[in-house]
Amino acid sequence: MKKPNHKYIFVIGGVMSGVGKGIAVSSIGTLLTAKGYKVNLVKVDPYLNVDAGTMHPTEHGEVFVLNSGLETDQDMGNYERFLGRDLAPDDYITSGMVYKHVIDKERALEFGGKCVDAKQIRDEIVHRLEHAAKVNKSDISIIEIGGTIGDYQNVMFMEAARVFKTYHSSDVIFMMVSYLPTPGSIGEMKTRPTQNAERQLASYGINTDFIIGRASTPIDKKRKEKIASACNIRPERVISAPDIKSIYDVPVNFEKDHLAEQLLEALDLPRTKTNDSFKAWTKMAQGIKSDKGKQVHIGVVGKYFNSGDFILSDAYLSVLEAIKFSAYAVGVKPIIHTVNSRDFEEKNIDYSTLDQYDGIIVPGGFGETGIEGKLNVIRYARERNIPYFGLCYGMQLMVIEYARNVLGLAGAHTDEINPKSPHLVIDIMPDQKKKLAEGNYGGSMRLGLYPAKLTKDSIAQEAYSYFAGKKLPKATTVIKERHRHRYEVNQKYIERLEKGGLVFSGKSPDGTLMEIAELPRSVHPFFLGTQFHPEFMARPLAPHPLFTEFMKAAKAMMVF
Ligand code: GLN
Repeated sequence: MKKPNHKYIFVIGGVMSGVGKGIAVSSIGTLLTAKGYKVNLVKVDPYLNVDAGTMHPTEHGEVFVLNSGLETDQDMGNYERFLGRDLAPDDYITSGMVYKHVIDKERALEFGGKCVDAKQIRDEIVHRLEHAAKVNKSDISIIEIGGTIGDYQNVMFMEAARVFKTYHSSDVIFMMVSYLPTPGSIGEMKTRPTQNAERQLASYGINTDFIIGRASTPIDKKRKEKIASACNIRPERVISAPDIKSIYDVPVNFEKDHLAEQLLEALDLPRTKTNDSFKAWTKMAQGIKSDKGKQVHIGVVGKYFNSGDFILSDAYLSVLEAIKFSAYAVGVKPIIHTVNSRDFEEKNIDYSTLDQYDGIIVPGGFGETGIEGKLNVIRYARERNIPYFGLCYGMQLMVIEYARNVLGLAGAHTDEINPKSPHLVIDIMPDQKKKLAEGNYGGSMRLGLYPAKLTKDSIAQEAYSYFAGKKLPKATTVIKERHRHRYEVNQKYIERLEKGGLVFSGKSPDGTLMEIAELPRSVHPFFLGTQFHPEFMARPLAPHPLFTEFMKAAKAMMVF
C-alpha cells in the first residue's frame, strides 16, 4: 500500500487566550501517537523575540529548553511531556526568527535584487513548517498558532496557514479551540462569541473543520448543533472540553469523544486501534488527580510568583509537573506551596513556617532579588535535615551556603551578584565573560544537553540507575541533561569544598565543571543540587530519577 502523504492539523484560538489551546494540541498529540502515528507538534509564536530566552518569566512563563539548547515557550514542555519524546528546534517558530532570517538573506543579496515583502515572510513560514515535518520524519504535524483570531500580531501566520491549504489541499485540516462563556447574570452557555470567531477566521480565507469548545461545563447537544450549523461543520466535530481537575485527563476525555478517530477520518488516514500505551496514560491520569495517598508538603522557594494580584506558577511549570510525576511514582499526594524568598530576608524571620514542609526546592533563577532569603532557607533545610533539592541557581546557592556556613568562608558569593566577594565560589565561565562584555545576551548561555559523569556510590548514581524510561546498565555512569546558565562552581574552591564534606557526584567528563553536588546520606537525608535543569526531562510516564529520589526522602520525612 502506498504510504499516505504527510498530514497537517492547524490549531487556532478563538474568542480569547488562556483557555488551554496548548493542552488541546498536546492531548491530540498523545492520542494520535497512541494510534500508532508519529506526530510532531509545532508552536508558532507571534512575538518578535528571536527565542523565548530574553523574556522575563513573570511576563511569559517558564523558558523551556530543548535538547538542542533552543530556548522556547513553556508550551513546548507540555508538548514533550504529552508526546513522551524530545522535539526538534524546528518545532518552534517565532516571528522574530522568521523576520531575522528573511532580512539577513536580503542583506546578503540572496533574493537576487527582488523586492522583498510580506510574501517572503509567509513563504519562509510555509517552508519551516514543511521542513519541521521532514526533520521529525513524522506522519502528522500539529501546528499551534499562538494568540487568538483577530490579533494583528499573528496575521502572517494565518496567511501562511491559508496558503498551506492551497499547496497541500486535502492533507490539511483546521481546528479552532474556542471558548463558550456562561455569564453569571444569564446562567446560560452562549455560543455567539464562537460563531463570531468562526466568521473572523473565514475572513482570513480559512474554514475550520473541527471546533473544540472550552467551557466550564459540557456543551449540550442543542448548542453543538447550533455551532455546527453556524460554522458549516458536522455536529460530531464540535468537541466538548469542559473544565477538569487535571490536564492529563484531557486526552482521556477526547478519547471518549473518539476525537482521534474523527481526525484520522478527516485526514483520510487508516483508523488504527488505540494501542496499550494509552492504558498506562489513563492509569497515570487517574493516579495524578487522585486524592488518595499520604500528603507530602513541598515548598518551592522562588521570586517569580507575584504578578500584579495574581500568584503565577507558570514560571516554574516544569518543576511543578516533575514533582507531580515523581509523587505519583512513589505513591504520595503532593501539596505544593509557593514560598516567596523575600519573606526570609527580614530582620526577625520566622523560620518555623518551613517546618511544615517535607521537602524544599529552590529552582533556577537570575539576579539578586531574594537571594539572601534563599540562602537562609537552604541553611535551615541543611541544619534541620529537611530534604533539599536545588536546581541550577538552587545548586549554586547551596554551594555558597555551604562555603559560608560550613567552611567558614565569610562573604562567599557568586560573581553574578558580588564580583568583589573575597570568595567567589561561583564564577562566570570564561567564554561567558566574553559574551557579556560584547553585550551578546540572546541564546548565548551554556544551553542544552551536556554529559555528566557520575561518581561511584553517590546518591546521584544510585538514582540514575533508571532514566528516561529505561533501566541503565550498572556500568553507565554518563548521563546527559539540559542546561541554561552562565556561572559555574569555581574550580579554585573545589578541593576545599570536597574536603569540607560536599560531594560533587556529577562532573563534566573532563572533570572541570561540577554538575551535581550532594551531601552523603550519613549526614543529611537529601541535600542535592544540579547545575542542569532535570525538570525539563521529566515525563509523566518516565518521571525524573532525581525528583523521585527527592520525593522518596520527603515521603520518609512524614514518618517522623
Ligand atoms: N543565574 C545562574 C546562572 O546564570 C543560574 C541560572 C539558572 O538557574 N537557570 O548561572
